[in-house]
Amino acid sequence: MPSRANPKNSISRRNVLATGAVAAAASLAPLKAHAQTAVAAYDVVIVGAGLAGLTAARDLKKAGLNSFMVLEARDRVGGRTLNQDLGQGTTVDGGGQWVGPTQHAILELAQELDVETFPTFNEGKLTLLMQRSATTVEGGRTLVADGTFIEKLDELAADISVETPWTSPRAAEYDSMTFREWIAAQALSEEDQLSVDASTYLTFGAPPDAISFLYVLYYIKSAGGYGVLESIEGGAQQDRFVGGSQTLSLKMFEELRDHVQLDTAVKRIINWETASEVCQVITDEEIIQAKQVVLALAPSLCNQIVFDSPLPPKRADLHRTWPVVGTGIKAQMRYSTPFWRDKGLNGQSFTDAGPYVWSVDNSPADGSSGVLLCFVDTDAAPRDPESRKLQITQALAACFGEEAAKPLAYVEKDWSDEPWSKGCVSPLAPGQLSTLGEALRPSLGRLHWSGTETSLLWTGYMDGAVRSGHTAALSALGALTAPPPVPG
Ligand SMILES: Cc1cc2nc3c(=O)[nH]c(=O)nc-3n(C[C@H](O)[C@H](O)[C@H](O)COP(=O)(O)OP(=O)(O)OC[C@H]3O[C@@H](n4cnc5c(N)ncnc54)[C@H](O)[C@@H]3O)c2cc1C
Repeated sequence: MPSRANPKNSISRRNVLATGAVAAAASLAPLKAHAQTAVAAYDVVIVGAGLAGLTAARDLKKAGLNSFMVLEARDRVGGRTLNQDLGQGTTVDGGGQWVGPTQHAILELAQELDVETFPTFNEGKLTLLMQRSATTVEGGRTLVADGTFIEKLDELAADISVETPWTSPRAAEYDSMTFREWIAAQALSEEDQLSVDASTYLTFGAPPDAISFLYVLYYIKSAGGYGVLESIEGGAQQDRFVGGSQTLSLKMFEELRDHVQLDTAVKRIINWETASEVCQVITDEEIIQAKQVVLALAPSLCNQIVFDSPLPPKRADLHRTWPVVGTGIKAQMRYSTPFWRDKGLNGQSFTDAGPYVWSVDNSPADGSSGVLLCFVDTDAAPRDPESRKLQITQALAACFGEEAAKPLAYVEKDWSDEPWSKGCVSPLAPGQLSTLGEALRPSLGRLHWSGTETSLLWTGYMDGAVRSGHTAALSALGALTAPPPVPG
């Protein structure tokens, strides 16, 4: 565990008085009965030790800054990435896992940290479990067979500005409709409609009814195309990290040790305007002074922090109204071998009625054991974990044979249970991007917004998180060296 306060940075009572921290403590008295003890001061405080926050911290260190601290609410780093143990040396990803060939920022980071990737297994036929009966079709294609559908989406996305999607042609019109409304006008086959529903749920973390069509186009543009988003080879699901994606954060944590405080939830940030000399970042135990603050977390989680003075209305509304709908549950099963491969199956299956949306071969690189990953259909699957496991393994048995009914080990990860994630990734509903989007990225006073949701490229993905960390570090460093605001 790193030290909670670096003595070198502890400030004297005189400094505290000079910068108003005592006044801040007094104003907090109703919020917290017990005393906030340790007081420290840094040039930059980073809130959140996910990929974004740790990347930002690493950049600050590389730039020669030593006066910075990452504050992380959980007792671990990695945020929405998590290595889970499936026994017998098999590690699986409970959260973010895949990377694609155009995700240069995370691939570069992985190379620097000496974390290798390996290809997702994708040979053999795909299984469809429709009305409880399994059929197989050729695998290796994007989920939606209708090429015109994909072309149309890419054409419309090409006109969207990732910097300012709300200024794009027809932005207001697209943001007034759901993705479902647009799909309904496309004359898709019944099979493709099911595929679009499943892939939307998997990619965006919500069904088409809940997502703004403008947001869908923006997300496609940010990733470089619908096919890139939805494909395995050449797309966002092409590769995985050896040892699990959390390894990147664990390795950055090793590098940064003394600069990361775990179990430290930020509750309040006061005097964040540039007019103040410094701002105060307040946790249950400390008041920490910061010249600049990087918030490396989703806007919906920023809503758990009180900003004093209040934030401008659009930024505050973004925090308050950012949907929390991505209730991803991943369930993973280990078998002695990837036995479905011997049957010419790729381990992927879609179901029309749950209990999962999509299964995929998630075996380790060397195939030393067989692992199936299921993205649970939270509407259709039982809430009770034991019944859920039973239904999932029964459905897998219907797809791949009786061996699937008896896994040697089983793990689940339910992200809706996590107060510091509140779900997976959560897309915007109609009416939000065009009205509140302009508040997503610009720094406010001493506050610099980071986290994958703020990235221009690969927003929503681990790559976007890394990119947003680089951007925020630059922004905070720039603000440290910027001349003070002209009085009056
Ligand atoms: C089930 C699932 C599957 C996914 N699949 C993929 C995939 O295959 N490929 C891909 O690229 N991406 C995937 N993602 C998305 C990817 O994991 C995220 O985009 C990425 O990890 C986000 O990183 P981040 O640093 O922006 O945010 P986070 O990882 O959310 O980090 C934010 C950090 O802030 C901390 N925090 C929150 N509030 C406070 C507070 N008040 N004080 C202090 N700390 C706080 C949190 O504990 C957390 O550690 C998936 C996510 C999930 C959940």
